[in-house]
Amino acid sequence: NVVTRFAPSPTGYLHIGGARTALFNWLYARRFGGRMLLRIEDTDRERSTQGAIDAILDGMSWLGLDWDGEPVHQFARADRHREAAETLLASGHAYRCFASAEELQQMRETARAEGRAPRYDGRWRDRDPSEAPAGAKSVIRLRAPTEGETVVDDAVQGRVTWANKDLDDLVLLRSDGNPTYMLAVVVDDHDMGVTQIIRGDDHLTNAARQAQIYKLLGWDVPAMAHIPLIHGADGAKLSKRHGALGVEAYRDLGYLPSALRNYLVRLGWSHGDQEVFSTDEMVAAFDLKAIGRSPARFDFAKLENLNGLYIRGSDDATLVDAIQRIVPEPIAPELREKLVAAMPGLKERAKTLVELLDSAYYLTAARPLALDDKAKGLLGDDAKARLGLVIPALEALEEWSAAATEAEVRKFAEAQGLKLGQVAQPLRAALTGRATSPPLFDVMAVLGREESLARLRDQIA
Ligand code: GLU
Repeated sequence: NVVTRFAPSPTGYLHIGGARTALFNWLYARRFGGRMLLRIEDTDRERSTQGAIDAILDGMSWLGLDWDGEPVHQFARADRHREAAETLLASGHAYRCFASAEELQQMRETARAEGRAPRYDGRWRDRDPSEAPAGAKSVIRLRAPTEGETVVDDAVQGRVTWANKDLDDLVLLRSDGNPTYMLAVVVDDHDMGVTQIIRGDDHLTNAARQAQIYKLLGWDVPAMAHIPLIHGADGAKLSKRHGALGVEAYRDLGYLPSALRNYLVRLGWSHGDQEVFSTDEMVAAFDLKAIGRSPARFDFAKLENLNGLYIRGSDDATLVDAIQRIVPEPIAPELREKLVAAMPGLKERAKTLVELLDSAYYLTAARPLALDDKAKGLLGDDAKARLGLVIPALEALEEWSAAATEAEVRKFAEAQGLKLGQVAQPLRAALTGRATSPPLFDVMAVLGREESLARLRDQIA
C-alpha cells in the first residue's frame, strides 16, 4: 500500500519547487490508490511560524492538492525521537560523545588545513562514558559502519553509493536533548508508514545518512526518488529573481490552479510529447521512471500560454468566480452579469486573470470615460466627425445586438467610402477608452443601447 508524504519546513511560503514536490507526491499516491500524508517540519523553532504553516496549507488547497489524515507536526514528536535515540544507545548502535566544542572546532580546522571535508574522528566511539570529565555534556552519535558502502537505489538518480569511511558518526541527539533533523525524519517516515519518499535532490546526501539510521534501527528503508531542482531560464538554480515566488503570488498574478498544476507536472516529468493534461490524465500517466535527471528550467512564457489555454477552456461564470478571488471588493450582481456576458470576448486573448480584468475595464468604467493615450490618438477631429455621423444610424436601429450593430456599421462605412477600421477604431476608443478591446460588436451588445450611445455622445460633445 503506497504512502507518500510532503514534508515542508514552515519557514516561508509554499514556493514553486515545494509545490511541485507536493504535486508529485500527490500524483504518485493517487496513481497507486495510496495515501499522501503531510508533515510540518517545524523543529527549527526560531524560523517556523504559524503564518508559514497557513500559507503552505492555503497554497496546497488552492492548487487542489489534498492530503490524507491530519498533518503531523514534527516538533510535537520529539519524545518519540528521543526514544529512538535511546533504543540505538541501548543496542550499541549509538554512543555518547563528550567531545567539547573546542575539540570539534579543532577537528574542523585541521580538516580545512588539509583540504578535506570536516568530519568527526570517532574519538568517543570506543571509550567508556566513565572516562568523561566531570560535568561534561554529551551528544548521542550514531555508530555508523566504517567499512563497505551505503547504497541508495533511487528511482530517479539510479544506484548511488557512498563509501562508509567518508560518512562520519552523525549526531542523533544534541546535548540539550533535542533530536536532530536527520533522526526526526527517519523516525517520522517510519512511524507514518511512508513507503515512497519523493523530494528534491538537495536531500540526496541526507538519504545516505538516513539509510544508515534505518538499518541500525532494524527498519526498512522506504523507496526513494530525488528529483532535480528547478532552475531558472538562464540555467542557474531558481531564485526569487527567476520567479521563485510563493504559489499565492501566482494566484494574485492571475494564474488558474489547473494551469499551474499542468505547468508544474511538466517541470521534470514527461509523457511522450504531451503538454496538456487534465488532472485525471496526469494521475493515470504519472510515473517516477519518466522523471529526468537534469534540472527543468522555469519558463514563464510557457506558463502564460498554458494559462491562456486554460482560461479559454474555462466556463464564463467560473472565470468570474476566479476573478472575484483576486479582487478585494465584492463584485456587484449587475456587474457580475455583465462580466459573464462579456466573457466569451474577453477570454479570447487574455493570458492571465489580471489581463482579463484589465480588458474588462470598459464594463466598470464610469462616464465620461477616461481615455488612455492611444485611444485619444484615435479620436482626432476627422474621427469625431465620423462618430457624429454614425451615431444617428445606430440610434435608428430597432434591434440592438452584436449582429445588428455590425451590419449597420459595415453598411455605414461602405456608404461613406470608408474602411471598416476607420469607423470601428473611433467607436472602440469611445466605448472602451482603449485602442484594443474584445470584439467591438460584442462590447456594444454587452454595454447595451443606452450606455453605448451615451459613451459615443460623450466624445463628440
Ligand atoms: N523539510 C524538508 C524541506 O523542506 C524536506 C525533508 C524531506 O522531504 O525529507 O526541504
